[in-house]
Amino acid sequence: MGDAIFKQRSGYLGVGIVARCGILTPAQVSGLGELAQAVECRYCKLTTRQTLIFVIPETKLEDLRAGVAALGLRVGVFGEIVRNVKACAGNKDLCQRSLSDVFELGGEIQDRFMDRPTPCDFKIALAGCHRGCTDPLCADYGIIATGNDTYNVYLGGRGGSRKPIHARPIATGITGEGVINLLTFILERYDALAEPRERICNTIARVGLEPFLPPEDFLTRYRPQEENDFLAFAGF
Ligand code: SF4
Repeated sequence: MGDAIFKQRSGYLGVGIVARCGILTPAQVSGLGELAQAVECRYCKLTTRQTLIFVIPETKLEDLRAGVAALGLRVGVFGEIVRNVKACAGNKDLCQRSLSDVFELGGEIQDRFMDRPTPCDFKIALAGCHRGCTDPLCADYGIIATGNDTYNVYLGGRGGSRKPIHARPIATGITGEGVINLLTFILERYDALAEPRERICNTIARVGLEPFLPPEDFLTRYRPQEENDFLAFAGF
């Protein structure tokens, strides 16, 4: 685990910069432009995980750190921890298909869980509807809105590898509060069940999904009553 600062073959440093679920204010955008020029940034790269990479001379690192902090942003982290949260354009200002405010929920999750140590890196993605623009089924913990403040949760996905894995459903129709409390439960189970540096999909492959499933009354507590009535009617 450490700061997301990587020496490149060119001798430059690549420095990861994280915003809250990838959202930047206009002041931060213009401030980043000025900062990029001040630190002689060669490229500003948008990443698939909604961070920015500044490629800078090594001598400018401390100036960049100070400038990033002054803008209310932070240098990213890497390694065996919960990473920054990836959330889609899912709120009423940004996507007309959004069923719930996933920025609000994603921001809360990032504030509470980012940097928490885990057996291996742990990635979270939220989507505001089943179209899943943030690939929640490729995340360790994927969240998809199904209605206003109701979500389905998926566990153990993995993208960007030679063997991509689809996450499996572990909860349906729970509230944002339930999503957060279920994440706490899952991370505790992951700590207890995983070998060192074992990605959660590999822990699931080794011990099965069952040991990660919360008791049903845990989930019932976080379902709106009508959702519980429907699940009882459907025989779940
Ligand atoms: S997942 Fe749905 S709500 Fe989110 S950006 Fe895509 S279409 Fe919009």
